[in-house]
Amino acid sequence: MPWPPRYDPAYVPPGEAEHWDSHLESMAPEDRDAVVLEKIQGQVRYAWERSGFYREFWRDAPVDPSNIRSLEEFEQLPILTKEEVRREQEEYPPYGRFLCVPPDQVYRIHGTSGTTGRPTVFGISRGDWERIGEAHARILWAAGVRPGDTVMVAAVFSLYVGSWGALVGAERLGAACFPFGAGTPGQTERAVEWAQMVKPAALYATPSYALYLAETAREMGVDPRSDFAFRLMFFSGEPGASVPTTRQAIEDAFGCYVVDQGSMAEMTPWMTNGGCRHLERGMHLWQDIVYTQLMDAESHEVVPMGAEGVPVYTHLERESQPMIRYWSGDIARWDMIDCPCGRTYPTLPLGIYGRADDMLIIRGQNVFPSRVEDVLRGWDEFGGEFRLVVERERGYLDRLTVQTEVSAQVWAAGEGGPQALESLRAQVGDTLRRALGVGVSVELKPEGEFERTQVKARRVIDLRS
Ligand SMILES: [Zn+2]
Repeated sequence: MPWPPRYDPAYVPPGEAEHWDSHLESMAPEDRDAVVLEKIQGQVRYAWERSGFYREFWRDAPVDPSNIRSLEEFEQLPILTKEEVRREQEEYPPYGRFLCVPPDQVYRIHGTSGTTGRPTVFGISRGDWERIGEAHARILWAAGVRPGDTVMVAAVFSLYVGSWGALVGAERLGAACFPFGAGTPGQTERAVEWAQMVKPAALYATPSYALYLAETAREMGVDPRSDFAFRLMFFSGEPGASVPTTRQAIEDAFGCYVVDQGSMAEMTPWMTNGGCRHLERGMHLWQDIVYTQLMDAESHEVVPMGAEGVPVYTHLERESQPMIRYWSGDIARWDMIDCPCGRTYPTLPLGIYGRADDMLIIRGQNVFPSRVEDVLRGWDEFGGEFRLVVERERGYLDRLTVQTEVSAQVWAAGEGGPQALESLRAQVGDTLRRALGVGVSVELKPEGEFERTQVKARRVIDLRS
């Protein structure tokens, strides 16, 4: 098999086919290991020969990068962290010595915005961009997108590779692409008008933004179920699409189904964690495109199926800026499940439910913001947004305050005096304490108190340190 693989750009399966590539998607897992190993050999040898970074990084590895003979040998290569990528790019700007093609072969430049620390730069070659389109088309096919569907991308078109990745996949699949964008004042109102007029079948956005779109539509007197025609929505960037109550809220609001997707921007094609149209929640791991292993956060040993760990990703067909054994810092559980789609990939049945950075340790308990979200969205009086404030109490104990909006109706009923909302506040506090295993303070806020975001929601305010 030549590496990197070449795909026929004209190929599209018949519309009724469940799989884009039945052979690869439904093979026995042990046969897949052989496919993956062959690609790992090609990818690792290539990076060893061409990347100054990996030459140095693997110099003392106990295995020969030019000849990886088994997946066990592969696991002896060191893990690469975001910090190391940042440091390398700072020293050798802009791409670091990751770039394995001449700089004039870079076809697209993307990056992370760098809200914490230096931004990360991704140089992507033309061949890689085509393979990203191919991978995303294949995974969007599993999500139920078909040629002739219109796909609305309501996310920011900028450095952020998410929107572009959704677009190139939908283009490759043969859908009509509607790159609407997001983030400029008044654009959500216009999205309501355009979605009514164009009637797209599919939407790509963040889960928070989909809920905001529904809220805005209702304020404009538009019914998101009957005035739009969304059949499915696929999301990345937040855990919400696998948070049961959030997912349900979106499905109920639009009368559509939801598919969760997304690994990380660094790992583009980022859809290789990707659900299918049958999966209730969670994502399949498309192992023959990006190889994923879940590892124990401390020991870095691969954890058994059924266990929780940190996903560590490896590009298998990236010629420009390959990431090999890249530590995500996310937290998920993996398992083998029988999905009606017939794919034999491992699955993250709960999606990615936390980031090691987002995980709050409150009085010794691990608290994930996604768990709080699940409780609040399941609550009838919820007003749509919330924030978590963490403070240090009396110098040594951590105190978590959940500030949650209540619906306008409930808030109005409470204006008779603070007592009116007191029992409600206590009740939410009890529910959260039971769900999280730790006591929290609750503050109720009127609907609309917190900003609605068009990109990833940042809901944790950490006042410690
Ligand atoms: Zn499936």
